[in-house]
Amino acid sequence: MRYHNITKDDMLNGDGLRVVLWVAGCSHHCKGCQNPITWDPNGGIPFDEAAKQEIFEQLDKDYISGITFSGGDPLHAANEAGLTALAKEIREKYPSKDIWLYTGYRWEEICDHEIIQYTDVLVDGRFILEQLDVTLPWKGSPNQRVIDVRQTLEKGKIILFGEDEKDGKN
Ligand code: SF4
Repeated sequence: MRYHNITKDDMLNGDGLRVVLWVAGCSHHCKGCQNPITWDPNGGIPFDEAAKQEIFEQLDKDYISGITFSGGDPLHAANEAGLTALAKEIREKYPSKDIWLYTGYRWEEICDHEIIQYTDVLVDGRFILEQLDVTLPWKGSPNQRVIDVRQTLEKGKIILFGEDEKDGKN
């Protein structure tokens, strides 16, 4: 697995303040993608032990809510095995932190992948430039879904992040 960047105190790619890992490799090639530099799986630099420790140092901080995997596509063949192992380790080492994952695949295509077990929120689907809506939280076009993975697996139907609380209030 290779990556381009680890960003810190990020407020845009998930709930709360987060550390974000931007991996290399995406085969979706959406028109208007903001990170085409990340499409090449051979781009960036190797994800090594030092990079992992850099992430753990962030997750050690109380005010960091969790980690977001983005890119690139975390579920690109070049990334999935490495990120599955990393997500599993984070889940064990930091049970109170949440894991968000952005992918160009649809939930229905990847919901049986192992990494889903360790994921709290999945933002799915390709970005569609013609439907760009900058007012949408955590996503670029309305076809994408911010999925509450645990609730979705438990209830056997797609539950969007925050939907449960909304239902409770109504
Ligand atoms: S899935 Fe994401 S990273 Fe990949 S091309 Fe589409 S917008 Fe860009």
